[in-house]
Amino acid sequence: MDWNGTVMDDLDRALAAINAAIAEHGLPDLDRPGFQGSFTLPMRRWLLELGVSEEHAEAVEAAWNTGMQTPAPLRAGVADTLRALRAAGAVTGVVTAASEAAMRYDVEHTGLQGVFDHVHTSVRDKAARLAELRSLGREAFYVGDTAYDIECARSAGYIAIGVGAGYQAEAILAAAGADHHLERFADLLGIVGHEHVAVARAR
Ligand SMILES: [Mg+2]
Repeated sequence: MDWNGTVMDDLDRALAAINAAIAEHGLPDLDRPGFQGSFTLPMRRWLLELGVSEEHAEAVEAAWNTGMQTPAPLRAGVADTLRALRAAGAVTGVVTAASEAAMRYDVEHTGLQGVFDHVHTSVRDKAARLAELRSLGREAFYVGDTAYDIECARSAGYIAIGVGAGYQAEAILAAAGADHHLERFADLLGIVGHEHVAVARAR
């Protein structure tokens, strides 16, 4: 799983965090379409595209991580779906660019303790980290809300699953061509079950 915009339903929080962080450097506020139309990872690339200077990018990213430590809701269905996946024997994990402190804040404030077997925070290169973890299971799935997530998942040999209403506009995410798109998070259970059977049959 990706974290922000995927497990967390936190676009509003992210919008407030980025606007507070860039305002200190004289940059204008983003609105929701402006955020969802520009957001990309790695974070540094997005900040530079927003007009943050190389010199200030690290400080802006730190301010963002601080601003992200405010309450936000989980995406509907996430907790039950993760628990059901684990109960069915799946290995669950998070690979995120978010800081360890920011993710820990969310886990503590949403009651999502104990549902992940592996957590990788402050990841600068998702494709590389996902590739390192690929051998954890016969089939592997990565769920994300951005085209970057889909591209990284694909390149690392994962079945790529997109989820909307996150940090990127629907058209940008759709253009990345995920293997599946979640309308409801709980639909992940059916996709994992179906793909597992399909892969097993193909062998
Ligand atoms: Mg995300």
